[in-house]
Amino acid sequence: MAQQPVLVIIGAGIGGLAAGVYAQMSGFETHIFEQHTIPGGFCTSWKRKGYLFDGCIHDLAGAGSNSPLNHLWQELCPDRLENIHYHDVITQVEDSHGHHLTVYANIDRFEAHLKSIAPEDAGVIKEYCAAARYFLAHDFYALQEATPADFLQWFPHLPFLFRWGRQSLEQVARKFKNPFLREAFPKIQYNFAGCPALVQMGFLAAQHKKEMGWPAGGSLAFAQSIARRFTRLGGQLHYHSRVRKVLVENDQACGVELEDGQQQRADWVISAGDGHTTIFKLLEGKYTNKFLRHYYTCAPDENSMNLQVSLGINRNLSGLPRAIFYHLEQPVSIAGHEVKDLEIEIYNYDPSIAPQGKSVIRLLSTSPYSYWNALGYGSEAYQQEKQKVADAFIDLLLQRFPDIRQDIEVVDVATPITSERYTASYHGLQAWYPEGQFGRILMKGISPNLPGLKRFSMTGQWSNGMMGINSVAITSRNLIRSLCKKFKMRFETTG
Ligand SMILES: Cc1cc2nc3c(=O)[nH]c(=O)nc-3n(C[C@H](O)[C@H](O)[C@H](O)COP(=O)(O)OP(=O)(O)OC[C@H]3O[C@@H](n4cnc5c(N)ncnc54)[C@H](O)[C@@H]3O)c2cc1C
Repeated sequence: MAQQPVLVIIGAGIGGLAAGVYAQMSGFETHIFEQHTIPGGFCTSWKRKGYLFDGCIHDLAGAGSNSPLNHLWQELCPDRLENIHYHDVITQVEDSHGHHLTVYANIDRFEAHLKSIAPEDAGVIKEYCAAARYFLAHDFYALQEATPADFLQWFPHLPFLFRWGRQSLEQVARKFKNPFLREAFPKIQYNFAGCPALVQMGFLAAQHKKEMGWPAGGSLAFAQSIARRFTRLGGQLHYHSRVRKVLVENDQACGVELEDGQQQRADWVISAGDGHTTIFKLLEGKYTNKFLRHYYTCAPDENSMNLQVSLGINRNLSGLPRAIFYHLEQPVSIAGHEVKDLEIEIYNYDPSIAPQGKSVIRLLSTSPYSYWNALGYGSEAYQQEKQKVADAFIDLLLQRFPDIRQDIEVVDVATPITSERYTASYHGLQAWYPEGQFGRILMKGISPNLPGLKRFSMTGQWSNGMMGINSVAITSRNLIRSLCKKFKMRFETTG
């Protein structure tokens, strides 16, 4: 038998793990090197005194068996699909005067609710919900795997897609006469400022069809399942193995060197780790272009959801929506960021998250990396600031749940430095979009390959520039399929 080509993959986030599974199924000899002691990267959870705090999945695209993306998870981690929770309510936007806008996962119910809040806006509401229903027949998430032939089917609908793709939720909101809807509507899709209406509609339709949901057990269990699949297929997963250099000969990648000096040779190297580190450290900035230099020079100081306060609550919070977006009467400055709304996520639907009769609340916010870095990780000032941040968020939570303080048993704060340490991501950031570059990144990604470097690819969020474990898994699947062609092997998705 001919020798198997050797693949080395940097990073065991979902991107790296998915690449590893497809590579093993297709007959490569695959080594994944992961700096951490567990798999998952950003897709993670952590246990504190019996409570499980989750750092990632709100919604898993492709969870439902009717989803066109379901095959991905059937291929990668079928056991995680056995217990999916589908939400009836996506989120509830509230203000301090008792108004609330409930975003039902069912479009008809959502429409009726909107009209009950603002009968005067019935026309705009009808038009919006009709447009969302378009995605019941044309799957938004299927676009991620669309072939040129599939795109042809969408072609006649381009004017519709452009119309709603160019309009943000803020712009839609301005059409309402009702003052509460004008205020609340832009917040129906998490805290995603400038979110195109099209994205919310695709998401709403996927929730309506029960294509998206929460895999019981959460993010780390999800990643661990894919890691198990990889090793059972014979893949070699090396934890606690930080890559410090990509080995290159004659502008061809030929392996990696770990921090302890060990080397692993390879026929192809894939980086599924942080883009900035890969390009400017592991490859010393030798393979870049104008776009990449510009992209990484524009790194923001913060991106959304990079500060997380998790609370273990000795109370059964069932009956509440899974998420509440609570508009504060007065904005408050916390850890270098002006907090105007409290994003409250209530884990009251998965018994594995908290001991019986108890619940978890996660508060997501944003905070500048430089703010935390200046304090110095591990210093007393850093610890004190974490405590201060926890206290400030708990005070805000009391505005919505006045008597909850006595039930808070466990408090955990994860900062941008926490993300940097555990995911080795540059400043704890996820992929971002420099002004005016969203379209370019949507079409071409950030860096699936590097200019001038052969036998090397990237996958994951720094390759495609997209957020979402489904999109990084698709990118990895496509990459291994293309490598199979190069190495004249059959691309396999079972094993
Ligand atoms: C708060 C939050 C909520 C989210 N919610 C959702 C959601 O609901 N649904 C969804 O689909 N997605 C969600 N996401 C996005 C999702 O988590 C990411 O898009 C995805 O996990 C990125 O995966 P990745 O494999 O590309 O990168 P990463 O997760 O960053 O993985 C990179 C891996 O490489 C390793 N690594 C880096 N450098 C090295 C090195 N030199 N040597 C060895 N190893 C290295 C890291 O340790 C890490 O394990 C959320 C993210 C956040 C932060």
